[in-house]
Amino acid sequence: MKRIGVLTSGGDSPGMNAAVRAVVRKGIYHGLEVAGVYQGYQGLIEGKIKDLEAGDVGDIIQRGGTKLYSARCPEFKTDAGQEKAIEQMKKHGLEGLVVIGGDGSYQGAMALTRKGFPCVGVPGTIDNDIPGTDYTIGFDTALNTVIEAIDKIRDTATSHERTFIIEVMGRDAGDLALWAGLAGGAETILIPEESYDLDEIVDRLKKGKARGKRHSIIIVAEGVMSGNELATLIEEKAGIETRVSVLGHIQRGGSPTARDRVLGSLFGARAVEVLLEGEGGKAIGMRNHLVVDYDMTKAFTEEHDADMTLYTLSKELSI
Ligand code: ADP
Repeated sequence: MKRIGVLTSGGDSPGMNAAVRAVVRKGIYHGLEVAGVYQGYQGLIEGKIKDLEAGDVGDIIQRGGTKLYSARCPEFKTDAGQEKAIEQMKKHGLEGLVVIGGDGSYQGAMALTRKGFPCVGVPGTIDNDIPGTDYTIGFDTALNTVIEAIDKIRDTATSHERTFIIEVMGRDAGDLALWAGLAGGAETILIPEESYDLDEIVDRLKKGKARGKRHSIIIVAEGVMSGNELATLIEEKAGIETRVSVLGHIQRGGSPTARDRVLGSLFGARAVEVLLEGEGGKAIGMRNHLVVDYDMTKAFTEEHDADMTLYTLSKELSI
């Protein structure tokens, strides 16, 4: 293998740039030429492909977002779209591709691999929802953003003796809500993986108030319901007024934490090694603090498990 490409696809996440930088520099270190594909699979179809030198990925390790830009590309889900992408890869002499993204992006990468173009997946998403890896690039930064917000909201909640509902990202996975809830000392956490009991939520609020708590924090993952819907349910059920804060896209941005930079660097570098070993169709991940590679199909055929010990502990600690 002499020449490889790298792209970022799907939802962006802080630390993707560290992964891009690692792919480019690790590739060059091993004597490869590395090209950046701009705007994900859309750019691959359109041939937005440019050689990257070591210096081209300088000064990005500390930046959020992705220097290569990202896109969603419905056309790439079609056979015709994938054929166009392959034509471009041939034209630009690419023999392998590192795809940094979520499980949707992995499906695209697997389609190319099956058509004879080896791809390796690097998990980049703030949701931490990719089966086969304990952590994804961007989760730690998003988590710290949420924590910062909770801490600030807690100040005003305490001053005014209020109950706050904080809606965080997570359509199918509750990791962000779970970790943020435990780290932020929330009274109640609502995640898609676990059914909720409105009576219990109200009961906890009342008990907290009875023992003199000046504030309550409820974290709800967007996949369960919106913060406003929950506020209405609590109001209707118990007449308790709450304030809602929807964190939204600030959770996606910001300078990556040291941890996400390190993960991005480790994963990006390992992806190049796996391509050099001639192994397409693999995903990179971390299990039990070790960098691993595994069959990419696992990432979109199996379920991601949230760490329910965090859920239980959070309940125990917020009595
Ligand atoms: P993420 O990678 O963050 O999960 P998406 O699910 O939006 O984000 O996927 C990103 C892109 O990957 C899509 O816009 C599409 O181009 C490609 N993709 C997603 N699913 C498939 C699929 N089943 N087959 C081929 N390509 C896919």
